Amino acid sequence: MVDFEIIDKRFKRFVLFNAHLEKLGDGFRWLEGPVWFADMQCLLFSDIPNDRIMRWSEAGGVQVFRQPAGFPNGQTRDREGRLITCSHHGRCVLRTELDGEITILADAYAGKRLNSPNDVVVKSDGTIWFSDPPYGIQTDYEGGKQTSELPARVYRLDPRDGVLTIVADDFDGPNGLCFAPDERRLYISDTGVQPADDPVEHIRVFDVDVDGKALLNGRVFHKVTPRNADGFRCDEDGNVWSSAGDGVHCIDPSGALLGKINVPSGVGNLTFGGRYRSRLFLCASQTLYAIYTNQRGAQRP
Ligand code: MG
Repeated sequence: MVDFEIIDKRFKRFVLFNAHLEKLGDGFRWLEGPVWFADMQCLLFSDIPNDRIMRWSEAGGVQVFRQPAGFPNGQTRDREGRLITCSHHGRCVLRTELDGEITILADAYAGKRLNSPNDVVVKSDGTIWFSDPPYGIQTDYEGGKQTSELPARVYRLDPRDGVLTIVADDFDGPNGLCFAPDERRLYISDTGVQPADDPVEHIRVFDVDVDGKALLNGRVFHKVTPRNADGFRCDEDGNVWSSAGDGVHCIDPSGALLGKINVPSGVGNLTFGGRYRSRLFLCASQTLYAIYTNQRGAQRP
């Protein structure tokens, strides 16, 4: 299998001729939620059906970081370096304090329980933006069947006052999200299946309004085929590196596909990390992979 597939010649400069896909660990059930800790040179990631957060480092390999972990999904860090985790089972967004204590940041809107927060990103102003589809409460495998009380939405949480605001409510299944490096745009994928004759499986892009609190002008950015665009990250030039059914797709800010990284199993989510933020870590179904690229991830994932 060819690791890198160049579709647009601009992708060539991101490719290292002597770098290949490396398997860092396998035997997991379903991986998601990769987050790089540069200060500790380690990766945390979620193994959802096994109800655990895993840790990988070059020296220590793969270890269990936390179990049980509330059937964790998407993860990121806030501006103070604290781990932020979406919990399916807890139907909430959690923060792990620097002393290890856990704080529930959001678990309800207008008195009704959230569904199952899926993916999360923190803006430079400290606000936490997350998607809330019902995927994690539809099966016992990923969190335990529970009744949905709210529509699938995307929320903005201000952790200073705990106020939750709806920023998007016209998705079937909002999933991954990522700000452009200048935070003037937010990408959000829809992995919904309605309508059946034309399934929703694209990434949409929104403009962030001038005060940084709301989204405007939502439109389709790119349709990832084969699905799913479950999770994605921007590089420092604003290209979007998205998960896909056949690996990773690199899409430029205008929506053009530049190239692919072919992976033996579908990729659910990914993040840049490593010493120079140029190593791509891939949560690929039951396997954790990494591959070095010649491009750096955005400063703020
Ligand atoms: Mg997801």
